[in-house]
Amino acid sequence: MIPNTNYSNLKDSYLFYNIAQKTKSYLAEHPDKHLYRMGIGDVSLPLCDAVIKALHGAVDDQAVKNTFHGYMPECGAPELREAIAEYYGRRGVELSSEEVFVSSGASDELGDILDLFGKDKTVLIMEPAYPAYVDANTIAGNKIIHVPAGKENSFLPMPDASVVADVIYICSPNNPTGAVFDYKKLQAWVDYANGIDAIILFDAAYEAFIEEDDIPHSIYEVNGAGKCAIEICSLSKTAGFTGTRCGYTVIPKELNRGGMNLNQMWVRNRTTKTNGVSYIIQKGAAAVFTEEGQEQIHNNINIYKQNAACLMEALDKLGIWYCGGKNAPYIWMKCPNGMGSWEFFDFLLKEIQVVGTPGEGFGACGEGYFRFSTFGSPEDTKEAARRLVELLSK
Ligand code: PLP
Repeated sequence: MIPNTNYSNLKDSYLFYNIAQKTKSYLAEHPDKHLYRMGIGDVSLPLCDAVIKALHGAVDDQAVKNTFHGYMPECGAPELREAIAEYYGRRGVELSSEEVFVSSGASDELGDILDLFGKDKTVLIMEPAYPAYVDANTIAGNKIIHVPAGKENSFLPMPDASVVADVIYICSPNNPTGAVFDYKKLQAWVDYANGIDAIILFDAAYEAFIEEDDIPHSIYEVNGAGKCAIEICSLSKTAGFTGTRCGYTVIPKELNRGGMNLNQMWVRNRTTKTNGVSYIIQKGAAAVFTEEGQEQIHNNINIYKQNAACLMEALDKLGIWYCGGKNAPYIWMKCPNGMGSWEFFDFLLKEIQVVGTPGEGFGACGEGYFRFSTFGSPEDTKEAARRLVELLSK
C-alpha cells in the first residue's frame, strides 16, 4: 500500500517551533526576565457569562431523561442554524438556515471543504497567508498559484484576468496582515471568480473585529457572491471558542457548478463524515448570537482593540509602516532599518523581551515584516508598546 505521497511535499513548519525554542533558551539564560508575548494567535479572555450560563444549562439538560440529547443533526441544531442566519439578516444578507452548516471550527472546514472540488484543482492563495491553506491543498495534491501581496498594494492583491484558477482563498480581515478588503475590491474578486467559474473560499474568522462601515463582514454583502462563494467562519476569536470549538460554514443554495449543487453536496458530505457538533457546545454557541451574548463578546473584543490601539500608537510615534489593527486583531509592521523578520525577532527578544511572529513564517513575501497579535493582556501590551518606542527611538 502506498499512502498519500503528497504528505512528502509538505514543507516543515518551523515557525512556532522556532519561536518556542528561542524563547525557551532565552528564559533558561535569563530566568529573572518576564516575556511580553505579542505573538500568540490564541485568545486570553474567558468565555462570556451568557455562553457559560448556556453551557451549564446544557450540561444539566444532559443529566435528565426528558431533556437529554443524543446524536445531533449532522449539519447543526436547527435553532443555532436559524440564529446564525438571523445574524446575517441583521446585516442585510438573506440566508435560509439550510444554507448555514455548524462546524467544529474553521480549521476543520478549510481542509474538509476540499472534498467538494475533487482532484487536481488549481487554487489561488494570496500570500502571506494563514498556513493551513497551503498545507491542506498540498495534502490534496492541488496545484497552488501563490499571489504575492506587498506594501505596494497594502497587502491586498487584486485579480489578474490572465490567471485562471478553480478555487480562490480570500481571508478578510486577514491573518497575518490585518488587511481588509473593502466592498469595491471584494466586488472585483467576486466578478473575477464568476467570470472564470471559480469558487471563492472566504475565510471570515475575524469579521467581528471590523469597525469601519465600508468593510463587508460577509462576502455575501457583495453582488453575485452567492453564485461563487463559500464562507467559513469561526467563533474562536469572535467569542473565545478556541478551546471550546464551534464555527459555521455558509454554502448558498444557488451555488452550482457542473450541473451539481454545492449545498446539497455538502449536506451529503456532512451526513457521511460527521455526526455533528455536541449539543452542549451548540447551546453555548447559540448564546453568542443573543443580544446579551453579542454585547458581552464585543466587550471582550474591545479589550483586544484597546491593545491594538496601544500598539498602533507606538508604531505611529515611531513612524513605522504597518497595516491592520483597526479592523483586525493583528498588526503587520515593516521591520525597521531593513532588518529581516527573524533578525528583528531576535533583536526584540534580546533587547526588550517582546515576542512577536516573524512575517517570513507566513510565506516568502512576509520576509522583512513582523506580526503583533493583540490577544495578550492589556498590561503586557502597554509595557511592550512602551519598550518598543524606547528601543526604536534611540
Ligand atoms: N482562519 C484563520 C484566518 C485563522 O487565523 C484561524 C485561527 O487562527 C482559523 C481560520 C482557525 O480557526 P478555528 O479555531 O475555528 O479552527
